[in-house]
Amino acid sequence: MPSNVNQCPDRPSAKLANHHITPGSPGRPPEPNVSTAPAPPAAEGADAPRPTDFIRQIVREDLSSGRHGSIKTRFPPEPNGFLHIGHARAIWTDFGIAAEFGGWCNLRLDDTNPVKEDPVYVEAIKDDVRWLGYDWHDLRHASDYFEVLYLAAEKLIAQGDAFVCDLTAEQVREYRGSLTEPGRNSPYRDRSIEENLDLFRRMRAGEFPDGARTLRAKIDMAAGNINLRDPALYRIKHAEHHQTGNDWPIYPMYDYAHSLSDAVEGITHSLCTLEFEDHRPLYDWCVDKVDLAHHPELVAPLTGKGLPFEASKPRQIEFSRLNINYTVMSKRKLMALVQDGLVESWDDPRMPSLQGIRRRGYTPSALKLFVSRLGLSKQNSMIDFSVLENTLREDLDAHAPRRMAVLAPLKFVLTNLPEGHTETLRFSNHPKDETQGERDIPFSRELWIEQDDFAEVPPKGWKRLVPGGDIRLRGAGIARVDEVIKDADGNVVELRGWLDPESRPGMVGADRKVKGTIHWVSAQHAVPAEVRLYDRLFNVPDPDDDTDGKTYRDHLNPDSRTIVRAYVEPAAALAAPEQHYQFERIGYFVADRRDHRSDAPVFNRSVTLRDTWTTKA
Ligand code: ATP
Ligand code: MG
Repeated sequence: MPSNVNQCPDRPSAKLANHHITPGSPGRPPEPNVSTAPAPPAAEGADAPRPTDFIRQIVREDLSSGRHGSIKTRFPPEPNGFLHIGHARAIWTDFGIAAEFGGWCNLRLDDTNPVKEDPVYVEAIKDDVRWLGYDWHDLRHASDYFEVLYLAAEKLIAQGDAFVCDLTAEQVREYRGSLTEPGRNSPYRDRSIEENLDLFRRMRAGEFPDGARTLRAKIDMAAGNINLRDPALYRIKHAEHHQTGNDWPIYPMYDYAHSLSDAVEGITHSLCTLEFEDHRPLYDWCVDKVDLAHHPELVAPLTGKGLPFEASKPRQIEFSRLNINYTVMSKRKLMALVQDGLVESWDDPRMPSLQGIRRRGYTPSALKLFVSRLGLSKQNSMIDFSVLENTLREDLDAHAPRRMAVLAPLKFVLTNLPEGHTETLRFSNHPKDETQGERDIPFSRELWIEQDDFAEVPPKGWKRLVPGGDIRLRGAGIARVDEVIKDADGNVVELRGWLDPESRPGMVGADRKVKGTIHWVSAQHAVPAEVRLYDRLFNVPDPDDDTDGKTYRDHLNPDSRTIVRAYVEPAAALAAPEQHYQFERIGYFVADRRDHRSDAPVFNRSVTLRDTWTTKA
């Protein structure tokens, strides 16, 4: 028997939802389309203005009018994949608003689709929410309420508001009608309450095969909103569930489970993305018809489980999804990237998953700054990837300690220093933040410098090292190259030169004017490190666009990862995993969360110092 409902989407898809968006229609605050404009002042931090979006406005009014004594929200991810950057907006909204207004937010795992779900995702979701700096009031599962949902369904049947339908999936589609034509009533719509109750109980007892029947709401097959044309509330699915095992051969549909879970938890504001807008009438229908507040007998099973509840009439409010170019955010595509080995794992630093960008070196504060600056609106739009990167640069510039690292080493021997000469120099950790203190950097006769800081035949405007020219070695004095040593193929393999003894830090000659300053590490003391140079995973702004017959797989950036053997100053090697640094003149890096060890350092490039893509594109 074909499944009745498996083919029709349970949750709305974001793509479909975009058709309903009418840009510029009344009441929709504008959101910039592909925004590259400089961002408005930060909405976070001690003296930054508090965010004032339309949802916060509603919440403020509900509190001041006394409509709600306190604010209760929930973040309801489906544990069928890892969270991505887009979810950061939802988390910031759900948890952030609750926190700002002194309320609470539940983390609710929306686990009504057992075949696609896995406890591994649950752990990652918890980790991500905590990483972003939020904590939940209660951790709940939609499956905690299966018994309540079942009793509520029996109530709907008894009220004549739901019926058991035997149509096949294909027939349901035929009967549903279209946007222009009304649907037709199912021939099973007028079953007696007794017959419906009997059949529903037998569905629950596991008597029927998958898809043989559904429980449907009895609303209106002629409704303009197709979601109200007798939508399915329950389907038969003989599948083991990660929380409830084999207790249930029937599972509630998303709209039904979601609205009633909100009501059970006492949620005041149910915040979600725009694709749920057309589902709001059904959401309200479920809440109103079941009316948990006046039917404590329905929530009795929770008392037995020790789960506190406080029935509410939640209000659903929709906001736009966060979309960013040069990336994909569909869980299905992200899953395929991992399964097909196009990236290493879900937390590959190139992935837009929160686990991935965390490993890449994104910080919770940068992400929160990013989403708070974009704010919330009712209009979907595409944000330029560089806006995200610039926010990270800004955050790391302010907070990341400086270190020196050489990524493409070239030996530079200062021949006027005695053999074996070493000394210790003091460097400040941050040029603009004295509170970050100082560190020791060993200096010696032999240094590593970057290959591309030297040119035998310099291009026009060159400010770095040339034969016979002077250069300032950051914090160590002024040096000159006298001799260029090459291998048999003519490659430069070593420079030999002179350190001006009058130019050492603190001496009068230290202020002598030279064109450029370069970074270095002491060859004797530097620690070899693996440095992973990450870049955008896709090389086109819209990898989802398949109109030219190409798919997102055809747009993978072949240079999204380059691994180099580098040398870092000893203080950098000592980093704890997830320590962020600016490697001077190179970019922002983070000690890899998984692989970094002080005796075998591994750093990931989070972002370059400057945007190199605006000019490329
Ligand atoms: P799928 O890719 O399977 O549609 P999803 O991305 O919608 O899944 P959910 O687990 O259903 O993931 O999402 C949890 C919450 O996060 C929902 O409230 C959803 O509205 C919100 N959310 C998901 N994607 C975004 C996004 N890009 N921007 C803002 N909020 C989002
Ligand atoms: Mg979803």
